[in-house]
Amino acid sequence: MNSPQVILSVFGTRPEAIKMFPVIRGLAADPRLESRVCVSGQHRAILDQVLEISGIKPDHDLAVMQPDQTLDALTVNLLTGLGQVMDEEKPDWVLVQGDTATAMCGALAAYYRKIPVAHLEAGLRSGNIHHPWPEEVNRKIIGTIAALHFAPTETAQQALLRENVNPSTVHVTGNSVIDALHWITGTIKQRPELVAGLADVEKRFAGKRIIGVTSHRRENFGGGLEAIAEAIRRLAERNDVAMIFPVHPNPNVRKVMETVLGDCANVALIEPLDYPHFARLLDISTLILTDSGGVQEEAPALGKPVLVMRETTERPEGVEAGTAKLVGTDTDRIVYETERLLDDEGAYAAMARAHNPFGDGQTAQRIVDLFAQTDC
Ligand code: UDP
Repeated sequence: MNSPQVILSVFGTRPEAIKMFPVIRGLAADPRLESRVCVSGQHRAILDQVLEISGIKPDHDLAVMQPDQTLDALTVNLLTGLGQVMDEEKPDWVLVQGDTATAMCGALAAYYRKIPVAHLEAGLRSGNIHHPWPEEVNRKIIGTIAALHFAPTETAQQALLRENVNPSTVHVTGNSVIDALHWITGTIKQRPELVAGLADVEKRFAGKRIIGVTSHRRENFGGGLEAIAEAIRRLAERNDVAMIFPVHPNPNVRKVMETVLGDCANVALIEPLDYPHFARLLDISTLILTDSGGVQEEAPALGKPVLVMRETTERPEGVEAGTAKLVGTDTDRIVYETERLLDDEGAYAAMARAHNPFGDGQTAQRIVDLFAQTDC
């Protein structure tokens, strides 16, 4: 019998961990393959929470994050650190996810060693290298290097084919974020104590319609975040709604949100939620305001309208399906679109349809089978 192919999964942030864990669990359970895991620690506490709940134990942990580190310094640290791990592990494949600095440096370090790269969530493009920044360029670099592209949708597959990627290397697998969401929903049903941490804020806002909010994108720093905060402040003047806003640990985000929203009675600025609590927040929300990528995929699967506070999206599938709407970062527009959903039942019903353009929850198994069938 051939020895199993070794797949080294490399990631460093919370959203990568959420999308990677179903695949890593699948790789680890398959006797045809051997799974190794390296985390960069690009996020720390919020990454560790996902590792813990999903039972992933990294074989390597680089802890690359330094306070106020520039992107240049982060890139250098990641590239050298990940390269050393690859020299030690000598994997048959390196698997990266999405578009972070960790994913880009993981792909580049593997390329420098002629190790083939597989890319989970391949082919997302906004068409604008400044939105989202620097992720659009990160994923284009990975797309150039990868030997296997796991595209979540046909739209993503088409984007890769337009860039002359070899069609036989592109596979439409769905997005593993839906596998993760199914898994966490089932886990919460069995262990409701996992979401007990929201009980106080749920009690405080009983009888009000909940709006779940997240906002942390770099390209919204300097102007965009202030405009978003101002929109939330204006919406919070209504007494029939309450905003629950887990604030990203980035100090740029914290400062703006605490200054503008710190004393609003109908806004709960809370610590970032671990994944089970965030799934609960999506579940109790009437609608979602976000600039996050992953949340744009999760909310449609739960039938929750999403207003996307960004100028462009690399996830047009939700917009095309009518469950997501791009509203940008203009204060008046955000307030107008939110109030329309709150006050116009028809407008709300048109968006609040459970729809799953991003996957059927079987993505991880498809990917495991593709690895097992592909000789490198
Ligand atoms: N998420 C979480 N806790 C939070 C906010 C988000 O667990 O307080 C999860 C959410 O379920 C989604 C992912 O984190 O799967 C999205 O991450 P983020 O918005 O940080 O990154 P992006 O998707 O924009 O890259």
